Amino acid sequence: MYCNYCGKVIQDDANLCAYCGTRIGSVAGRRKLMRSRVNRKIAGVCAGFAEYFDLDVTMVRVVWLLVALFGGGGILAYIIAWIVMPEEPEFVPVSAPSSPPQPYQGT
Ligand SMILES: [Zn+2]
Repeated sequence: MYCNYCGKVIQDDANLCAYCGTRIGSVAGRRKLMRSRVNRKIAGVCAGFAEYFDLDVTMVRVVWLLVALFGGGGILAYIIAWIVMPEEPEFVPVSAPSSPPQPYQGT
């Protein structure tokens, strides 16, 4: 496929253009703060933040834990985020046709 910013040919599965660094593909359109279903440990809040801010999930968890341990507000913030943040829609796999079209059986 082509980068729609600089027009260079890039890998089909690339998220970033290797030439100009522009974000490409479906990832770019996913900019909603939602609780992740995929990477969740408790409610997916940390994973949701990580996806939204393009951060490493583990980093978000570590920072959140440190805030929770030393600041005390982390757990409360987590519960608030849990309530406030919408859950991302359940992944619906594209259903393949259950049976191939039957070839016409001549009489
Ligand atoms: Zn480019």
